[in-house]
Amino acid sequence: MQTIRGTRDILPDEISEWQNLYLEALELLTLHNYSEIRTPIIEQTELFIKGVGNDTDIINKEMYNFIDQGDRKITLRPEGTASIVRSFISNKLYINNTIQKLWYMGPMFRYERPQNGRQRQFHQLGIEYIGSDNPLTDVEIINLAHNILQKLNCPTYTVEVNSIGTKEERIEYKKALVNYLQQFKTELDLDSQKRLETNPIRILDSKNTRTQYILEDAPCLSKHLGKASLQDFEIVCEYLNMLKIPYIVNYKLVRGLDYYNGTAFEIINNQLGAKNTICGGGRYNNLIKQLGGPNIPGVGCAIGIERLLMLIKHNKNDKNKKDRFHLLTQGSEAEKKAWHLIKWLEEEKIKFHIEFNQDSFQKKIKKAVKYKALGCLIIGPEEIRNSTITIKWLDKHYQKTIDYNNIINYIKQELN
Ligand code: ATP
Ligand code: MG
Repeated sequence: MQTIRGTRDILPDEISEWQNLYLEALELLTLHNYSEIRTPIIEQTELFIKGVGNDTDIINKEMYNFIDQGDRKITLRPEGTASIVRSFISNKLYINNTIQKLWYMGPMFRYERPQNGRQRQFHQLGIEYIGSDNPLTDVEIINLAHNILQKLNCPTYTVEVNSIGTKEERIEYKKALVNYLQQFKTELDLDSQKRLETNPIRILDSKNTRTQYILEDAPCLSKHLGKASLQDFEIVCEYLNMLKIPYIVNYKLVRGLDYYNGTAFEIINNQLGAKNTICGGGRYNNLIKQLGGPNIPGVGCAIGIERLLMLIKHNKNDKNKKDRFHLLTQGSEAEKKAWHLIKWLEEEKIKFHIEFNQDSFQKKIKKAVKYKALGCLIIGPEEIRNSTITIKWLDKHYQKTIDYNNIINYIKQELN
C-alpha cells in the first residue's frame, strides 16, 4: 500500500532536520516570550469559511471536508490562524492579558495538485502577535520569520511587503480597478474573469502572464491608501531598513480578504522555481471580531516547512556521528548486568544501542563497525566471572578490560 497522493512519510534519516527546526524555533521564540499552542487538526467547517474567506482558493477548492458520524461538518485544517483565533476566543485568552504571543507547528491539509514543494498534507510553522495594531508588531513578526530563516542558514531570500490598507480604502480602490479591468475582461484568465465579479482585488495575485501584463497599467492600491495606512507602512519599511532585512515593496501583493488589512508580506526564494514562497503573513485587525470574539487586532505569518527544508543544506552525516556504544552480551547473567549498565549510561547521557539476540560477539562487533559506533561494551562469561567489562574502541583499534563499577568513570575520562 502507498501513502495517500500528496502525502509522504518523514523517514528516520530526515527526522533530525525536523527536530532541529523545531528546537531552533522553540529556542528563538521562547527568548522572545512567544508560547507554543497546539490546537486540534479537525475543526468545524464553518470556522474556515468565516476565517479564511469565501472567495479564496482554499475555500473554493482546497478543503478536506467531511461529515462525521454525528452529522457534523468537519474540516481538516488548511491553515493555522483561524484555529488560533478560535482558541483565543473560546478559551477567553484575552481576559487577563489582551496581548498573546503564540506560535505553532503542525500539519495542514489542502486538496491541491501535488508537485515539488506542494503537498496535500504539508507543515507550517506559524507565529501570531495578537493584541496590538502598532506597526512595530508587523516588523516584529517579519523579523522573527527572518531570524528563523537565518538561524537555519536558509540561503538568499527577499521579503516582499505591501499595505492593503483598510476595508474602506479597498472599496474605493476596487471601483477604480474594476473600472480599468472591464475593458480587458475577455482577455483575462478565467479565474480572474470570475473574480472581477466576486473579489477583484485578488486578480492582482494572478500568475497568468497575460493578466499580469494587463495589470501593469492598472491603478495602484497605494494611491488609494489614507494617511494613517501610509504612515504605518512607512514605519514598517523604515524599521526593515534599520534591521537590514532584505525587502522590496510589491504593490500587487494582496491577501485580499475583508478582515485583513494593513501590512501584507511574503518571503520569496528564487531557487524554488514556481513554488517560491516560503512564508506568507499579514495583519488581520478584523478577524477576531469576525469570528465572534472581541475587537482585538492581530498580525502573523506562516512558514511552509517542506519548502524551507528544500532550501537548507543538510548535514546528512548526522547519522554517521560516532557517539554511540553498542552493548554486547552473552548469556542471561550478562543481560541482567547490561540493564544496570543501561541505567548508568542513561544517567550520564551516553548514547547506546542494544539488541536482544543470540548473535555471536563477532557478528555483533561487525554490525557495530558497519553502523559506525564509537565502541563496544562487552559482557561475556569471562567478564561476569571477574566483575569486569571489556570495552573495544572501534576508532582506536584497541580494547581494555575495566572493573565493572569503574566503567562509567573510565568512559567519561576517555571521552574528555
Ligand atoms: P501558494 O501561493 O504557494 O499556494 P499560499 O498563498 O496558498 O501559497 P499560504 O496560505 O500563505 O500559502 O501559506 C504559507 C506558506 O505555506 C506558503 O508560503 C508555503 O510555503 C506553504 N504552503 C502553502 N500551501 C502549501 C502546500 N500545498 N504544500 C506545501 N507548502 C505549502
Ligand atoms: Mg495556495
